[in-house]
Amino acid sequence: MAKLAYEETFDCVQCGYCLPACPTYQTMEKETHSPRGRINLVKMAAEGKISTDELKEPIDLCLGCRACETACPTNVQYGRILESAKEVLAESYPSSLTQRMVEKTVFKGLLPSTQMLRVIEFGLQAYQKSGVQTLVQKSGILPKLLPQGMAEFEAMMPTIKRRKQKKPLTAPSTSYRVAYFTGCLMDTMFGSINEQAIALLERVGCDVHVIPSQSCCGALQHHAGDIGTAKMLAKKNIAAFEEEHYDYIVSSIGGCGAMLMEYGELLRHESDWHKRAEQFARKHVDVSIILEKNGLPFSGEMNKTAVYQPSCHMTHVQKNTAAPLALIQSIPGLTYVEVDKQEMCCGSAGIYNLLHYEEATAIVDKKMPHVQKAKPDLLITTNPGCHLQMKIGVQRAGLAEKIEVKHLVEVLAEVTEGVRKDV
Ligand code: SF4
Ligand code: SF4
Repeated sequence: MAKLAYEETFDCVQCGYCLPACPTYQTMEKETHSPRGRINLVKMAAEGKISTDELKEPIDLCLGCRACETACPTNVQYGRILESAKEVLAESYPSSLTQRMVEKTVFKGLLPSTQMLRVIEFGLQAYQKSGVQTLVQKSGILPKLLPQGMAEFEAMMPTIKRRKQKKPLTAPSTSYRVAYFTGCLMDTMFGSINEQAIALLERVGCDVHVIPSQSCCGALQHHAGDIGTAKMLAKKNIAAFEEEHYDYIVSSIGGCGAMLMEYGELLRHESDWHKRAEQFARKHVDVSIILEKNGLPFSGEMNKTAVYQPSCHMTHVQKNTAAPLALIQSIPGLTYVEVDKQEMCCGSAGIYNLLHYEEATAIVDKKMPHVQKAKPDLLITTNPGCHLQMKIGVQRAGLAEKIEVKHLVEVLAEVTEGVRKDV
């Protein structure tokens, strides 16, 4: 098993500092489902002491949240170890028919295709606007037809809004030339958040461009061990964003942003691409960094109590913790309350919550009492997956009437002068 990141496993000194940070260790209480245990298993598999069978479940149940990397005093490269194990497992185990269908239709066909995503968006709009969604939900048929996780997601689906022609906004001055990364699912399910993010960037003086040839970032494929598709999409994006000069590549999606920043790592063995990938990655910033740096012109107040659910990939991979918090704390009238175990993953983790519904639900349920203790009216997220998962958590805790879940961009748009709230 030459592909396993064997050398990297020696950086682990088995100290266990990572255990309290690991959501699966906290909920499953097994050494094999902790970072230390998983690293040991990868080492033993590389040495031929155990079979890949013994590696499979612990690796499949890892969220890939990378909280262990932040907690680790010896800087273990857990992401690289995990990626190598996923790749080996993807090659060793023939996919089931369902997995093959997901890989072929969703990962390779749907997510990388803008046209297909627009068709889905149109279909979802029609489903919601025609009243069919209300009828289907009232009939109670969905839980019988769909797996439980999918049915809960359908219920939490945001209202897909028809895109409007963007009104030109008067920006104070042009500070940066920015290329905006839209993301595939983000642009389909939460297209209005992208439009608000662009409006906010324009409001602080950025000259924003949306490059039509950009593609899905490849994060979901990467998490599933389909490294070939992830690399293909990375190259497509690098080439697209190289066509003109931009000061920054900006996204408002914690998970996709983390993937974009790791293109250099993903393409580290490809001499033709590595340098280009590193240049691309260096240019990426989350929208919060630019907005915080340039100061938004707030025009309204928000008399609410808010808590924040930081996206794992924003915190542990992008290392962007200060800017979102500073923005939240700068909103006039808003009271920010920090929640115990705030950094703990919510269980979303790409499509983990669809593949491992019970495990993901146990994780979000463990968070909710801490959220409830803070008595918020508003829960702010920075990633569409966390957004939906926290909505499910709020619903499951019986708090849907009391707590709104919103992306940071939506919250900022509500109180920023000259940004339309209705996009
Ligand atoms: S990535 Fe997250 S779930 Fe996986 S071992 Fe690390 S802390 Fe635990
Ligand atoms: S904190 Fe780092 S060195 Fe310590 S057990 Fe966890 S991964 Fe190993």
